[in-house]
Amino acid sequence: MAAHIHSELFTERPSRVLLFFVDGLGLPHSNVLRKSIFAEFPILCELLQSHAVPLATHLNVSGTPQSATGQTTILTGTNACALTGRPLSGFPTRPLRRCLESENIFLKLQNYDCQATFANAYVRRHERSLQRNLQSATTIATLSAFGRTRTADDLLRGNALYHDLTRWTLVDHAGVEDVPRITQQEAARHLMNVFRQHQFCLFEYFLTDVYGHRGTLDQKKAILRSIEEHVRHLFEQRQEDELIMIVSDHGNIEEPDHKYHTRNSVPLVALGPGRDTLFRECRSLTDITPLIVQLLTA
Ligand SMILES: [Zn+2]
Repeated sequence: MAAHIHSELFTERPSRVLLFFVDGLGLPHSNVLRKSIFAEFPILCELLQSHAVPLATHLNVSGTPQSATGQTTILTGTNACALTGRPLSGFPTRPLRRCLESENIFLKLQNYDCQATFANAYVRRHERSLQRNLQSATTIATLSAFGRTRTADDLLRGNALYHDLTRWTLVDHAGVEDVPRITQQEAARHLMNVFRQHQFCLFEYFLTDVYGHRGTLDQKKAILRSIEEHVRHLFEQRQEDELIMIVSDHGNIEEPDHKYHTRNSVPLVALGPGRDTLFRECRSLTDITPLIVQLLTA
């Protein structure tokens, strides 16, 4: 088990770890990328083929994997389905919230004096705290560890990232006009800026799952194109001592002919020091948090 790995295995340790969480991105069932929706995205194909291992998402229960349990598991290392008995979608219920508030990755790292952060900014027209029952797993973990989330002011200072990367949904849908759109290159620079002030940085992207549920094929491809461009810039800017990881909670967008989650494995993409350890030890969503903590603190 990850928690018991001897520290001598960590000969290659990163100075800092960026975890790019992508909701609803599974590996195609047949694993034949060139026949899948990923076929026209060469960088994603390369990452999935040569820089990733598959992770199981079922968490030892039957039923289709869901976000509340999957994300709680990723962020804590505890099998959330063992707490609920089944996969739960939407926002974490009380047992999941308790788990997130007591043992999330930010808190675990803070115990070792590791600087951790959540890079996403929250933008609301009326600045009120988010209703408790509408808080995602990442929001609950962030509030419990830091007491606040990043805001529009952080965005404007290049000290946060909006969940859609370039703020295109802010301008088009939310009616927010005083936060200008940025390029993918700027978005990557902003994320790197936050990342380099810390030892662990989490970013959450969830439009993959949103459009996996309700998008057309073209919209799903546009989302994948956006991720591809962003990670290209991220990996170009990565320094030698930095570990960048991409992981998901369950499949969805990889099967564009329907609009439901899948039981497919998800990729754990990793580039940088520590990746051999991750690829050797990481098999399930439960392994992610313990391995990151080990890599940064052992
Ligand atoms: Zn979903």
